[in-house]
Amino acid sequence: MMRSVTLVLTVVTVSKAFPNFHINNVGDSGGDEIGGVMEYLRGFGETLYKQPNNEVGDMVKAWVPSKGLSNPEELGTYVEGDILFPESHTSRNGLRAVSARWPNGRVPYVISGSFSKSDLATINAAIAEYHQQTCVRFVPRTAESDYLVFKNGQTGCWSSVGRVGGAQEINLQSPGCLVQKGTVMHEMMHALGFLHEQSRWERDNFVDINYQNIMPGRENNFIKAEKSTTDDMGVEYDYGSVMHYSATAFSANGQPTIVPKSANAALGQRESVSHKDVQKIRRMYQCKKAKARDTIKNGTKFLEPTY
Ligand SMILES: [Zn+2]
Repeated sequence: MMRSVTLVLTVVTVSKAFPNFHINNVGDSGGDEIGGVMEYLRGFGETLYKQPNNEVGDMVKAWVPSKGLSNPEELGTYVEGDILFPESHTSRNGLRAVSARWPNGRVPYVISGSFSKSDLATINAAIAEYHQQTCVRFVPRTAESDYLVFKNGQTGCWSSVGRVGGAQEINLQSPGCLVQKGTVMHEMMHALGFLHEQSRWERDNFVDINYQNIMPGRENNFIKAEKSTTDDMGVEYDYGSVMHYSATAFSANGQPTIVPKSANAALGQRESVSHKDVQKIRRMYQCKKAKARDTIKNGTKFLEPTY
C-alpha cells in the first residue's frame, strides 16, 4: 500500500517538474509511440496545430501536373507543406497529439466527402498497393475508436503523422491530390508514421539544399532531424522515396532547392512507394512476425498475405 502511494506521488511530482512529460493515451488499445517523430514535429511549435485553410486549396486548384517537377502536397503552408494536426485532434485529456503505430498494422478507415469514381479508384489502388507490398491492412471501419477519414476539402493535400487517436483526417483535394497515386500513398505513409525523406539527419551527405532559391519564410520546411531521436530502421537514404520532396519544392524562382549529390538521382516521384519505403514500413510494422501470427491463427496455407 505504502509503495503505491509513493509511486503516485512520484508520477505527480515528475509531471509538475517536466510539463512535457506525458502519458501515451492514444486510443483504447494501448500506446506504441513512434520514437522521435513528435520530438521532431514539436520543434515547429503551434503551427503544427493550425486549421486547414482554403488558400492552400486555391493553390492546389491552380496546380498543373508536371511529373516529378512539383507536387501538390508541396504547395501547402502547413508544416513542411502537408503535415497538420488539426486543433480538433487535441487528445481527450487535453494533451497534444502523439504519433503512434497502428496496432497490428490494421488501419480502419472511412471515406467521407464527395470523391468522384476515378478518385475512389485511385484511393483503392493505393490501398491495394499497400496490401500487396506490406502487411499493413486498411480496413473499412466498423466500431473502432481510432481511424482515418479520407476527405476532399478544398484545403490541399495533408495528413497527421502516425495514429493520433480518434477520427483523424487525411485530406485529398480533388482533383489535384488524386492525379498521382503516389500523392495518395505519400499522405497515407504520413498516417502510418513516416516523415519526409529529406528531413533525415544525414541528408546533407546525399543532397545539397540551395537556401538562396527557397521562398522567403519557408526555410523551415528544410529542417532536418537530430541523429539522437532518429530511427531509420536500418534502411539507407532513398532518393526514390515517395516521401522525398521534388527538386524544386518551395522554390521562389523555379530553380532547384534540392540537388542530389548523385548525378543520376531523380527526386519527387509519386508513382508508388519505393522498394526502400516498403522495407521501412515492413520493419515498423514487423511484417515478418505478422506473417507468422497469421499462419498460426488460421492454420497452414490459409490466406497468407502477400508480402
Ligand atoms: Zn508530406
